[in-house]
Amino acid sequence: MCVAWVLTAHLLPPWQALGSLCSPWAAPRVGPLPLAPAMVRISKPKTFQAYLDDCHRRYSCAHCRAHLANHDDLISKSFQGSQGRAYLFNSVVNVGCGPAEERVLLTGLHAVADIHCENCKTTLGWKYEQAFESSQKYKEGKYIIELNHMIKDNGWD
Ligand SMILES: [Zn+2]
Repeated sequence: MCVAWVLTAHLLPPWQALGSLCSPWAAPRVGPLPLAPAMVRISKPKTFQAYLDDCHRRYSCAHCRAHLANHDDLISKSFQGSQGRAYLFNSVVNVGCGPAEERVLLTGLHAVADIHCENCKTTLGWKYEQAFESSQKYKEGKYIIELNHMIKDNGWD
């Protein structure tokens, strides 16, 4: 019964809750949801999208328009993804994380995890879990999103 309720909750319109929120909340969310009595869940519906504040320029998923990052959290535009240019962000929302694995990138060996849009499941880029060279340490815990998976949203003119 609990499981059935949770599945239904995923389908709630995302704009029902949260409102304006400049949250540093970021993926990954790991493991099952904490169990709680059914009555508590009904009074506090779980939403699966986070919303960035309307007062900020932001980037959204090009495929489903889920919010991804604030322009304020952009660190660098000079990254290269597998399919073109990519941006480095300090924090993101609505993003899920795959398992970390070691990869040799242009800038050396890193432990990275693929990230995907939690709403439409499109792979967006990756997260730097660990960098092994001191000059690359600043990227640890940061997120790469490829440009062709993002659109500029809200107040860019
Ligand atoms: Zn999406």
